[in-house]
Amino acid sequence: MQVRIYLNDWFYNMGIVGMIRILEHAKRKGEDITFVLGEDFLEIDDKTINNFHNFYFDYFYDEYTKKEYIKIKDRFNQLKLKLDVDTIKEIEKFLLETKLDDKAAKKGFESEVKELLDIIKKVKKNHDLNTLAILINKIESLLKENDVIEKYALDNIRSMMYDNFFGQMSFLQKGLSNKSLDEHKQIMFKDFIKPLIVDIKVEEYLQNNDLNSLSSFLEKEQGKEENVKAYKNYLKKSKKDMNIFNESLCANSYCSICNIYPSFKEDFNESRFLILGVSNENASNFFWNFITKYPICNLCKLVILCAPAGVAKFDKFYMEKEEWWKRNFYTFVNLDTNLEDLFKKNESLKKKISSDNPYKEFIVDILEQAREESIWTLQNILFVEFNGQYQSKKSNLKYMHISKFIAKYFKTYSRETIDRIKNRKLKAELIDKILQNEDLNKVIFIRLKECIKNNANGADIYYSTLSKALLNCIKMKGDENKVKDKVYRAFFTGKEMREYLKKNKSENKISSLAYRLLNTAKVGNKKDFMDTVLRLYINSEMEMPRIFLEAFYEDNIDFETLAQSFIAGLITETKEVEVHE
Ligand SMILES: [Zn+2]
Repeated sequence: MQVRIYLNDWFYNMGIVGMIRILEHAKRKGEDITFVLGEDFLEIDDKTINNFHNFYFDYFYDEYTKKEYIKIKDRFNQLKLKLDVDTIKEIEKFLLETKLDDKAAKKGFESEVKELLDIIKKVKKNHDLNTLAILINKIESLLKENDVIEKYALDNIRSMMYDNFFGQMSFLQKGLSNKSLDEHKQIMFKDFIKPLIVDIKVEEYLQNNDLNSLSSFLEKEQGKEENVKAYKNYLKKSKKDMNIFNESLCANSYCSICNIYPSFKEDFNESRFLILGVSNENASNFFWNFITKYPICNLCKLVILCAPAGVAKFDKFYMEKEEWWKRNFYTFVNLDTNLEDLFKKNESLKKKISSDNPYKEFIVDILEQAREESIWTLQNILFVEFNGQYQSKKSNLKYMHISKFIAKYFKTYSRETIDRIKNRKLKAELIDKILQNEDLNKVIFIRLKECIKNNANGADIYYSTLSKALLNCIKMKGDENKVKDKVYRAFFTGKEMREYLKKNKSENKISSLAYRLLNTAKVGNKKDFMDTVLRLYINSEMEMPRIFLEAFYEDNIDFETLAQSFIAGLITETKEVEVHE
């Protein structure tokens, strides 16, 4: 029988995208399966669902070994290359960080691990390179053991799902952490696949009005699941009357997502998808906070279980000071064109995810593919980012809509502004803030301070302030050329002042002057900023540039922007950098 899964809210669509990835992966590995991507639905058959637990874990296992385990092996190979007396320290560090000894011991390699630790002691004592070579071989063979690789993969998959998606449920329960891959598949089959297959069969017999087959199917069914018990009960009550059976079935609460299957007392709460349940900031307006019951069927439970395959993992490297879990985000693009487009766009984001600015590249891609309707396309896109830590009940959930003005900014100006920023941290952070519609001033001031401190040139600051000013201008429907001109003039004026100070042997004053201006601008103190500038021009007997007067009387550009751009010019060596007007 064919089963259709229809597009819905973003978290559900994430599951559908995950399901397609899992199915495509199985197909690539030679499984004989068919599925159809309809306009707004995914269609699969019950035969495929019957094996889905295998496809599911194989997908995550292969993704892990391909992308993560390879890093452990690479690191070890690096270590192997330089065999000297210091290597032993590195090996100890490797074991400590990869937990190889612990994982191997849990998979039945206790004696090998013990031997390994003994050899380490020996090598540390006699610094013997031959023994060291033996040690290397022992570690290498452990790293090749299937059970060990499986342990790494499952530990990784489990913790990702546990923290960010489902918390403690089914195969994710703590007590099951040392179970094998096959055992995980079996638990998933029992909890998710088996009950769903029963629902699908019953639905099929009902559609065919075939009560005889339905009875013999249910009589043979040995399961103790809620739905099996209920169906058997309805059958008994129906006394072989299809209408009565249907009536009992309809008395159930139907799934609030698909409305196709009954829920059998199952509720969609935070344990089904914990980000929506425990997220402190954004989830409060979600509907299930107001409605206490949110019934869900076995099919939709399976769809949501695929959500971890629907996302791309995004390491926000610029948040280096944060705890590791706060840096790793799971991201998804939602749109409501059609399923194929939804899938393709998520594939494209996933491919770009290891770059510094995946969202930006994704946006630029759309802009290049479809010039005419690109702004419309962008406006219909929603980026969702989240992460969590189940134990401490902490989580983040962010939605990013690309407004019309952000779309226009990227289309018209990103190449001549943000693309020219050389510092990858600054660039990534700015793009993030732009998409989240947050103020860019804080980031720019922090980076400006760093530039002054490190004697770095201010070109990056110039392009950052220009981005900010253009975004604002587009938003306020101002004159974009005028704004571009002013930001440039402020920068150029700063550079001129620098040249003057250098010529008059006052180069050593530049950084203290820049600091003073930065500190007044940062707190929005126009008066002190202007006092400093005024004194500067009076002492130099140069004419006060018009840009400073305009700054306070015209509204299409703000004081902070001009201040930042002027200071950026002040710290920029002309020979070092050429700023494009
Ligand atoms: Zn459902």
